[in-house]
Amino acid sequence: MAMFEKILIANRGEIALRIQRACREMGIKTVVVHSEADREAKYVKLADESVCIGPPQPGLSYLNIPAIISAAEVTDAEAIHPGYGFLSENADFAERVEQSGFVFIGPRPDTIRMMGDKVQAKAAMKRAGVPCVPGVDGALGEDPASIIKAARTIGYPVIIKAAGGGGGRGMRVVHTEAALLHAVQTTRAEAQAAFNNPMVYMEKFLEQPRHIEIQVLADGFNNAVYLGDRDCSLQRRHQKIIEEAPAPGLTERLRAKIGVRCAEACRKIGYRGAGTFEFLYEKGEFFFIEMNTRVQVEHPVTELITGIDIIQQQIRIASGQKLGFTQKDIAYRGHAMECRINAEDPFTFIPSPGKVTRWHTPGGPGIRVDSHVYADYTVPPYYDSMIGKIIAYGDTREQAMARLSIALSEMAVDGIKTNIPLHLELLEDAGFQRGGVSIHYLEEKLAHRSKQV
Ligand code: ADP
Repeated sequence: MAMFEKILIANRGEIALRIQRACREMGIKTVVVHSEADREAKYVKLADESVCIGPPQPGLSYLNIPAIISAAEVTDAEAIHPGYGFLSENADFAERVEQSGFVFIGPRPDTIRMMGDKVQAKAAMKRAGVPCVPGVDGALGEDPASIIKAARTIGYPVIIKAAGGGGGRGMRVVHTEAALLHAVQTTRAEAQAAFNNPMVYMEKFLEQPRHIEIQVLADGFNNAVYLGDRDCSLQRRHQKIIEEAPAPGLTERLRAKIGVRCAEACRKIGYRGAGTFEFLYEKGEFFFIEMNTRVQVEHPVTELITGIDIIQQQIRIASGQKLGFTQKDIAYRGHAMECRINAEDPFTFIPSPGKVTRWHTPGGPGIRVDSHVYADYTVPPYYDSMIGKIIAYGDTREQAMARLSIALSEMAVDGIKTNIPLHLELLEDAGFQRGGVSIHYLEEKLAHRSKQV
């Protein structure tokens, strides 16, 4: 099948620019859709064509399926790249795109739908031989006695999670039997209100896990590979702050063992495109929690250590090409670490949109800057506060960290507040420097920090 001539980018911000760069390198024309708030964005100016799809509110623009499809129609685009967030994991959108005669750059709609239901996703992964968090198979029923029995079998603490949950919402940890039934009931009600799906499930609550994920690529011809792992344990309110590849302290044997399972699972479910298997990792064991059926914010760290352009691979796969390499061809070199730059107060975390009066980005060996921001750009208040990423590569983890610190110290941003001071502090943190901290490490550090102020 021939490569696309024109792709529509259904996203905004740094990822819209990132996708555009991949397309331009491949000689593909780009159409950018944008809201009224993003008219002045750099990638809109650089696009071959642009279409305003509505007012600033995401519901009226970036989530507006008919407007996006008609933009593809009027510009004669052949495929749509959804980026991350917004409609990227919306199976109905993927279906509408394909029904309208365009290619959706991502997995098949039914794969997205299955992974969006965590009970189904977990069952499918278990069948495919991926290790899951111990728990009850399937959704919890109504019978109180069997809920109590299930929790006793798993052992406290347990976590009640919404099947339709996402973004770290719709979860409740239960430490004692006395609190169990009420917790199930409350989570069910919340799940119904937030995700329009009251289904909940129960699993063992892991106390000090790390977040380690496996990047995969699969084509539609039963070929699948894994591109190693990323450690994204540094999180605040389930939002990743710093990510790195490879995960510190993991042996090659363990990495290969879990990677092979993920690639095998992709073949078993007929996965197509780029994807990420997210795991909690504790005491040398991996436990699957969910699969993201899209490109992730932190994909650059994997690109830097493997030399593979994940966005370009997504596009090639969507155009019908077979993977051009096998697992044997994939080698990891060096270490990469990414800091997410957010427009927010580094202490209170209150968003800080507004006009960026000065924007000086760093450079030098091993530094990559993925950001759509420029001096005089105004960060709109309507969207996520992440405005870019600084990614450092080094031969060793120490070198990557040193380069990242220097890069952040060179960076000069005026007009808005950013979390750069927090990143500089974290890069100096002894625990983080040692590597391998748990997902609670950052929150605990922040709690301690607020006590000191
Ligand atoms: P979401 O789609 O909302 O991000 P996940 O299933 O990925 O939901 O879980 C989000 C986060 O919640 C995890 O990164 C982890 O911090 C925590 N979590 C989820 N399940 C467990 C568990 N069984 N034990 C401990 N923490 C968990």
